[in-house]
Amino acid sequence: MDIDLEIYSPVHQIKNKLFDEQGLNVFIKRDDLIHPIISGNKWRKLKYLLKKAQSENKTHLVTFGGAYSNHLLATAAAAAKFGFKATGIVRGEQVTNDTLFLCRLHGMNLLFTDRDSYRDKPALFEKHFAGDPNAFFIDEGGASPEGAKGCSELIDELTETYDHIFCACGTGTTAAGIINGIQKHQLATQFHTVPVFKNGGFIKQEIDRFLTTPANYQLHTDYHFGGYGKADDELIKFVKNFVAETGILIEPIYTGKMLYALYDLAAKNNFKPGSRILAIHSGGIWGLLGMKDRFF
Ligand SMILES: *Cc1c(COP(=O)(O)O)cnc(C)c1O
Repeated sequence: MDIDLEIYSPVHQIKNKLFDEQGLNVFIKRDDLIHPIISGNKWRKLKYLLKKAQSENKTHLVTFGGAYSNHLLATAAAAAKFGFKATGIVRGEQVTNDTLFLCRLHGMNLLFTDRDSYRDKPALFEKHFAGDPNAFFIDEGGASPEGAKGCSELIDELTETYDHIFCACGTGTTAAGIINGIQKHQLATQFHTVPVFKNGGFIKQEIDRFLTTPANYQLHTDYHFGGYGKADDELIKFVKNFVAETGILIEPIYTGKMLYALYDLAAKNNFKPGSRILAIHSGGIWGLLGMKDRFF
């Protein structure tokens, strides 16, 4: 089977008073529309990993994630679509939630593991799948050179140029891929990424290990709102307003923090009037399900 999805990811303009006052042209690339479940950067990261698995005749995808992982869910759905078996090794004690329900619904087998052993993923893979010649290891979040390669294709799709591109950052694979794409096309675009966890400075080395050539980019480490999966009332209010004003679904874990940063930097006069700014909607809207009770 040919492992591919037809990419539908249009660029939409966001208009509002803030951007008018600042003279900014702000756009959002709708990677969230690529697929309802295999959404956004998760499809881009999986594409070449799945092709590699197929070329090695591996039929069983084994990957890792927290109990609300968008990557686990995307892998479950991609496995179902492209005819792989899938196992998700989940960090922490056995729980049920909406994300894991959807993983199971797509046929993924779940193995819960304590937080200590979760740290050593190759060891876990060995422990459970050493005897399975069909098993294919996919790192947490799809972090890999193949993942970065898939993400760089986002830049190939652009028909306009931008002064700034913004993206949320977890493992840094998506950021690295986009930077590689910017370099490949020799664009004068400044890349910005917003780590969604505390003390995000260390992510620079994670990003840099997937770069094809060294590059300058901006890490905005002050928009983590207390850490991964954490949010305060201000962030929740921002997400509510954004969705109600644009009709575009975002969530507080990734895209909400990235867009909050963009709006905050705009309000603080960080961009020259006339600047063209592109935010990447990296998908992941199912993350909202785990935070419903924070909203109303
Ligand atoms: C997983 C995820 C990210 C983080 O991507 P990395 O490549 O791990 O940095 C960003 N946004 C959304 C919506 C995600 O689900």
